[in-house]
Amino acid sequence: MSATPSADAEPSGGAAHAASEDGASAEGTWIELSVSADLEAVEAVTEILARHARGGVSIEPAFELVADGLAALTDTSAPAIVRAYLPGIDRGDVRRALTETRTALGHLQAFGLRPIGDLQTRVVNESDWAHAWKRHFPVLRVGRRLVIRPTWRRYRAKPAEVVLALDPGMAFATGLHPTTRLCLAAIERWADAGLVRSESSVLDVGCGSGVLSIAAGLLGAGHVRAVDPDPVAIEAPSANAGRNRLATVHPRRGSLPSGDGPFDLVVANLIASLLVSMADDLRAEVKPGGRLVASGIFVDREGEVRDAFHSAGLHVTGNWEDGDWVALEARPTIGAMPGDDPKRAGNSAYGD
Ligand code: SAH
Repeated sequence: MSATPSADAEPSGGAAHAASEDGASAEGTWIELSVSADLEAVEAVTEILARHARGGVSIEPAFELVADGLAALTDTSAPAIVRAYLPGIDRGDVRRALTETRTALGHLQAFGLRPIGDLQTRVVNESDWAHAWKRHFPVLRVGRRLVIRPTWRRYRAKPAEVVLALDPGMAFATGLHPTTRLCLAAIERWADAGLVRSESSVLDVGCGSGVLSIAAGLLGAGHVRAVDPDPVAIEAPSANAGRNRLATVHPRRGSLPSGDGPFDLVVANLIASLLVSMADDLRAEVKPGGRLVASGIFVDREGEVRDAFHSAGLHVTGNWEDGDWVALEARPTIGAMPGDDPKRAGNSAYGD
């Protein structure tokens, strides 16, 4: 069964109600605009809503809960809900934004692209809004024994399971995203191969909420360095490490070079263009004999990342796919220097 987060899902406290044409005028309130749109129309609708949305735009894909509610699969055949938030302070601004948004959506419909839903509005109190997103995060099993538990949910661990308590906060990284799942699976496989030990050092490049660092720490890594240039993504991993009683995770604001490499294991869940531009720096962070997993690669861009890795002296030893996303595992080419062009490495399938 497919469950689309409902457009009028109430945040806890139930303080939401439809916005009047005037909009609200109280400080601390936001006007939520939402439109349901199928996959082809999501981008255009998002662009229209973003024009006025100082509070940001979110896209909630329809999802289907599987594995007794322990995992969620995106259902691309069902419409997504695009939501945007405008500050509710100034009635004039809100009215103007609503009129312009309605007109632009009307034009979009007139193109006959794909049917999109009507513009829905409601007033959301800031304090409720801060918690509204929580309902969308189920307890999630990744790989064979990692379980991600949002801090506000309960879970009784089965023998051998490693339960990671996570509050994603404002930073991206819910454990639900395929690129994150691919990295978690890689870390679990490294752990199964005996590579995650108290003597092991791990670098998490672009740590976000710290989910990958914490998984490495819980699986036994003795030293985990987490870097991210986003200040929000530095508070979250510290808090999340504390929630998991881990003293081995050390977040730092910034990027590469990390300053304390090279590491035994490196995870980098970024995007293809960053992986390409950072290939030499990534290579420099991996010890000879160490491993790197690079994720966040859209299938179309796998070749580009492979090429950059090869020129940087990284030998790709495996690729794993989840939907449209690919993660590459690589090792330093012994003796190669950045700029050398080692032979193209073979592909090994996921789950070997
Ligand atoms: N590691 C988390 C988050 C991945 S999202 C997970 O797997 O779920 C990608 C992260 O990379 C974001 O938090 C973003 O702030 C960070 N990032 C963006 N540019 C970066 C750069 N140049 N160096 C390091 N991290 C970067």
